[in-house]
Amino acid sequence: MSYEYDSQNIFAKILRGEIPNKTVLETEHSLAFEDIQPQAPVHVLVIPKGPYVSYDHFALDASDAEIVDFTRAVGEVCKISGVQPSAGGNGFRAIANTGEAGVQEVPHLHVHILGGRVLGRMISKG
Ligand code: 5GP
Repeated sequence: MSYEYDSQNIFAKILRGEIPNKTVLETEHSLAFEDIQPQAPVHVLVIPKGPYVSYDHFALDASDAEIVDFTRAVGEVCKISGVQPSAGGNGFRAIANTGEAGVQEVPHLHVHILGGRVLGRMISKG
């Protein structure tokens, strides 16, 4: 089954500069910006610039260059945000909600980097 990308999704609009964002990092293939409704003191979204719906879409179809760039961008965001345990930070959680079961709101791959407080257990039981 193929992936269908909706070019009118909110992150596509951010990438086109139609909606403002608080940029944390921009690289050749990736953009990281602050979540508009932060759930923790650190809440940054890292997205690829390419039209990928979800993590599985990206992991299967993106070029090696895009995957390397995106993965390094996640690392850089952790560094910039001060959450790295190896550098005095308290740790973080990286989340890529996907599809209906994952309760994904925006259909453009985004990895949430959350930190700055203890985040509780991984998922709720409900
Ligand atoms: P999801 O539920 O799809 O994993 O997460 C979508 C995230 O995008 C939510 O945390 C939400 O607050 C964030 N978000 C939605 N619209 C905007 C926006 O216009 N700007 C920014 N910076 N974040 C947004």
